[in-house]
Amino acid sequence: MSTAVVVGSGPNGLAAAVHLARHGVEVQVLEAADTIGGGTRSSELTLPGLLHDECSAFHPMGAGSPYLQTLDLERYGLSWRWADVDCAHPLDSGEAGLLHRSVDETAAGLGADGPRWQRMFGNLADGFDDLAADLMRPIVNIPRHPLKLASFGPRALLPAGITARWWRTEKGRALFGGVAAHAYYRLDRPATSAVGLMIIAAGHRYGWPVAEGGSQSITSALAAVLTDWGGKIATGVRVDSIADIPPADVVLLDLSPSAALSIFGEQIPQRVARAYRRFRHGPAAFKVDYAVEGGVPWRDPDCGRAGTVHLGGTFAEIAAAEKDVSSGRMPQRPFVLVGQQYLADAGRSKGNLHPLYAYAHVPHGYTGDATSAITAQIERFAPGFRDRVVATVSSGPAQLAQSNANYVGGDIIGGANTETQVVLRPRIALDPYSTGVAGTYLCSASTPPGAGAHGMSGYNAAQSALRYLRRHGDDVL
Ligand SMILES: Cc1cc2nc3c(=O)[nH]c(=O)nc-3n(C[C@H](O)[C@H](O)[C@H](O)COP(=O)(O)OP(=O)(O)OC[C@H]3O[C@@H](n4cnc5c(N)ncnc54)[C@H](O)[C@@H]3O)c2cc1C
Repeated sequence: MSTAVVVGSGPNGLAAAVHLARHGVEVQVLEAADTIGGGTRSSELTLPGLLHDECSAFHPMGAGSPYLQTLDLERYGLSWRWADVDCAHPLDSGEAGLLHRSVDETAAGLGADGPRWQRMFGNLADGFDDLAADLMRPIVNIPRHPLKLASFGPRALLPAGITARWWRTEKGRALFGGVAAHAYYRLDRPATSAVGLMIIAAGHRYGWPVAEGGSQSITSALAAVLTDWGGKIATGVRVDSIADIPPADVVLLDLSPSAALSIFGEQIPQRVARAYRRFRHGPAAFKVDYAVEGGVPWRDPDCGRAGTVHLGGTFAEIAAAEKDVSSGRMPQRPFVLVGQQYLADAGRSKGNLHPLYAYAHVPHGYTGDATSAITAQIERFAPGFRDRVVATVSSGPAQLAQSNANYVGGDIIGGANTETQVVLRPRIALDPYSTGVAGTYLCSASTPPGAGAHGMSGYNAAQSALRYLRRHGDDVL
């Protein structure tokens, strides 16, 4: 029987492990932390009885993941839950742009921009599954749906700032801009439309669900599938050098390129080592979890129906804040993403006390305290919020990196979405997962298709590992 070691138990590590195990490989997962899941973990961060997502929270790409969909995770306890409204983007004028699962309903709320939203996202949402099948694997593959890709490509390559001109109202522009800001990069740079267009299209196809019982439920379901296929997981095992990895036919690293470099050192060929050293990490997150009595007193009550609320004002304001953080400057009013997961999953609250999730985009390695800037952004659109806060827990870039070594400098997306790295990460190669060391692959969000709890990097890397095993005469299914 062929053997594999997977280092790291994030959604990609677990997806890779499951895929190998289903093909008859004996798999062992080694996880540094005491709990598995990496970016898909949940716990009572503020007060007993309040369940917070430690990292990922909303899962349009998880629900729409071509690989996770094949695993029937529902049978292993995963239930997606949706808030009434997927995402709200309030403006100082008091009105808010609302993103609904339905393109028609979203368009109906956007006035003059309604028909334009329809035109931009109607076909994209209808064709999302085909597009995802092509875009969530390395770009070197021959596309299965070339026409859809050809129609999406030119739009995706535009800077988000140019795409934003498509809308006539500030509501339309800001609603798009808040989602485009998930690119975590300057919105005046090429290809920053790609992330926003994909997440909105995924949302129109699948909504922006949360996992009932916290994102940890995604981890638990993946671990249960893995165990069913005979895979084993060990926690509290940090891999710092090759000596820490038990002998195996293939090794998959759910790690950053720099970690791969430090573990495999000189074994990594020079050209790959150079590419890994050049790999750029992006800006950071500063996260604040709140316990809030009675929920957030939003000025626009529709924000109180939305799972996600994007705070940053107009498109121009968000673009300026994103430019600042990309240039290493902390903006006075950072872009803030607020999560009200309890609206979709009431079991996360305790009576009238609710867990509120928020994080701001801050510069890479930021060492200041962004708690008051985040609270001020919420207060700006929800006067009286401060008075309802019962408890607060803040985690800056250093704490995030300490809890998970993959968050280098607080970068939660596994590498900057620069023009090149947005598709060609961590290096330009026919097999971007290969580390150049025989049978050893990177499978983290630093590889295509990038960040998100969708498991596709893990699945793609496992495919590469299976090809390697077959080439070497191993008897895999
Ligand atoms: C605050 C925040 C909010 C987010 N929001 C969302 C969201 O709403 N939706 C979404 O889809 N995504 C979101 N993400 C991103 C998402 O969580 C990541 O893209 C995803 O978890 C990446 O998965 P991964 O398997 O590549 O790595 P990770 O999930 O980072 O897992 C890597 C694992 O490897 C372990 N590890 C690291 N080094 C070692 C070592 N040397 N030895 C052994 N183990 C090691 C780590 O402990 C960790 O468990 C968010 C992330 C954060 C932090």
